[in-house]
This record gives sequence, structure tokens and C-alpha cells, in this order.
Amino acid sequence: MIEAPPVVELRGVGLVYPGPPPVEALYPCDLAVRRGDFITVTGPSGAGKSSLLNLIGLLDKQTSGSYLLNGIDTGALREVERTALRGRFIGFVFQSFHLLPYRNALENVTLALVYQGKKKAERTALAHEALVRVGLEHRISSFPTTLSGGERQRVAIARALVGDPALLLCDEPTGNLDTKTASSILALLEELNASGLTVVVITHDSAVARRGSRMLEIRDGRASEREPA
Ligand code: ADP
Repeated sequence: MIEAPPVVELRGVGLVYPGPPPVEALYPCDLAVRRGDFITVTGPSGAGKSSLLNLIGLLDKQTSGSYLLNGIDTGALREVERTALRGRFIGFVFQSFHLLPYRNALENVTLALVYQGKKKAERTALAHEALVRVGLEHRISSFPTTLSGGERQRVAIARALVGDPALLLCDEPTGNLDTKTASSILALLEELNASGLTVVVITHDSAVARRGSRMLEIRDGRASEREPA
């Protein structure tokens, strides 16, 4: 039987910001993220965590090595192809939600599908389904300003899920939330992971980090995998 390729495969991938002075944000590293992994990424501020996530998310381009996403070598792709690949396979969740304030929850999620060539009725149905999935069916018509931090993050997660990605990339998803709400958001991410979604989470919080099935630590641009305690 032919084994499916890793969702993400980094081979000697490094990133140097040109400067001046040049910054070695990520020293060449190897990493295979397999389907169903829940990887947490820790490290001090400035260590290179976001740089790694931006590379995996095709928001930035490595300056060395090769990156295969679902077996597709991204190195030779044009920007428009990278954008299409990103839209097809990757969902993003950020610390500060990035919701549009004058759009309600349903519209915020629906907008993520605008470039996918789906009809409006289908977009609305998919967005509704995604909001149900994150437990927000009762808040679909609410505007972000009337939602709690945890609810806003749930809308943002629904927006990330609505395109049915293989991989969810989260940059400090619980960084703006109190402990109890953070825990419920983490439980949601774990539930999504258990249903087959591959998840990578950057976190400052060691309690969050320990919930990963794999833990990656980055220090001064050097990534290494830590054994679970
Ligand atoms: P972290 O997410 O761990 O806080 P980053 O990946 O944001 O770290 O940054 C890693 C290093 O790269 C830092 O030294 C940072 O100053 C530098 N850096 C980040 N973005 C840029 C950029 N656009 N240009 C130059 N240097 C950058």
C-alpha cells in the first residue's frame, strides 16, 4: 500500500530575512507533520515561531530547502498557485481574531468562501454548518462587538474551517483569553483534531503546550522536537 505523504514536509527549510542586517529567523530544519498530528510550538519571543508558521502557511517563502504540502513541492509554484494551495489546504487562527466588526458571525465566516467560486446559498449553508460545529448556532446573527472573546475566537475558528482545510495553523489562539475560556477553545481544537484535522498551535502557555501530541521548541531560530513529559 502506498502511504499518504505527510501534510507538511520541510527538508532543510530555513529563512533569512535579508536586512540589513540579515536575520537568520529559522536555521535549516527538517519536519514532517503527519495527518492527525496536534503539534504545539513554544519558545521565547523572537525565537522564530511565527516565521515557521508563516512558512508552513505559505505566507512567506523559505530562503533554503524545500517544502512539500500534501506531497506538492511548493518551491516552483507561482504566487497565484501558492494562494490557491493555501486556500485549499490551510486554515488560520490568530490571537486577535481578525473579524470584520460590521459583519455578523455568519457573514464573517461566509466571506472566507467568496473566492472559491461557490454560489451564495451554498456559502451560507457551509458557514452555518461551520458555526454549528464550533457551538455557535445561537449566535450566528451576532456582531463581533456583542460576542465574548471566546465566542469571537470560535467565529474565527469557524471561518478557518469553512473551506474544509487539511491543516489548521493557530498563532497564540488562547493568548487573549482567560484561563477557563482558553481551556474551552483548546478543547474545541482537540475535538477538531480528533475528527481528523491536523493542527499546529503556537503558544506561550506551557499547559497548552503539554496538550500537543508532539511538542516543538524553537530557540534562537533552531527548532527541535521535545519528548512529551
Ligand atoms: P516569534 O514568533 O518566536 O516571536 P518571529 O518568527 O516573529 O519570532 O521572529 C524571528 C526573528 O526574525 C526575530 O529576530 C525577528 O525580529 C525577526 N523578524 C521577523 N519578521 C521579520 C521581518 N519581516 N524582517 C526582518 N526580521 C524579521
